Amino acid sequence: MYALDELQSIVKQCDRCILAKTRTNTVFGEGSKNSKIMFVGEGPGFYEDKSGKPFVGNAGQLFDSMLNAINLTRQDIYITNIVKCRPPDNRNPSEKECKSCIEFLRWQVKIINPKIIVCLGAVAANNIIEKGFSVTKNRGVWYKKGKFDIIATYHPAAILRDKNKKKDVWEDLKSIRILYDRINNKKQ
Ligand code: URA
Repeated sequence: MYALDELQSIVKQCDRCILAKTRTNTVFGEGSKNSKIMFVGEGPGFYEDKSGKPFVGNAGQLFDSMLNAINLTRQDIYITNIVKCRPPDNRNPSEKECKSCIEFLRWQVKIINPKIIVCLGAVAANNIIEKGFSVTKNRGVWYKKGKFDIIATYHPAAILRDKNKKKDVWEDLKSIRILYDRINNKKQ
C-alpha cells in the first residue's frame, strides 16, 4: 500500500499518456485524507494546470458554493479528477487517457477509503459507474459498488453553461448530505 504523498510523487513523474507532454503541473487531488466523501471531476483545466490544484477556476468556485450549500468545506472532503493532467484546449480526456490514469484514482480510493463517491459529470460517471452512463437520465441515483455508495450529478461547468440544472443539483446535494450524516452518525 502506498502512502498518499508517495503516490503523488509517482503521479508527478508519470508519462503514461500524451497529456504528460503538454501539462505544466500534474493535479493530484487534495482535501482531507480521512474524509468519508470523495468528489471526482474530469480533468484539470487551465488554472488547475498552472497551480497544480483541483477545481480552482470558475467551475471550482461554483463547486465551493455547492459544498457550502450543504455545510461542507474543502477541509471536509477529498477532491480529485479522472485524469491528472490537463487535456489541451480543455477537450474531454480520451478513453485511452482515462484508462492510463484510472489506476491512480483506484489507489487514491484505496488509501483514503471514502464511503461516498460523487461523480461530477459524465467523464467521471462513465469511468466509475458504467460506460455509457447518462448523467441527464441517471443523476441522483445511488449505486452500490463493493463498499462504496456512488452517485453522479452534473459537473459544475455544465451548471455554469445551463443554470436550469441548478435545481436538480440541489436535490442531489441534499441526498448526498443525508447519506453523509447517516454514515457519520453510525456507531463504529
Ligand atoms: N474541471 C474538472 O473536472 N476538474 C478540475 O479540476 C477543474 C475543472
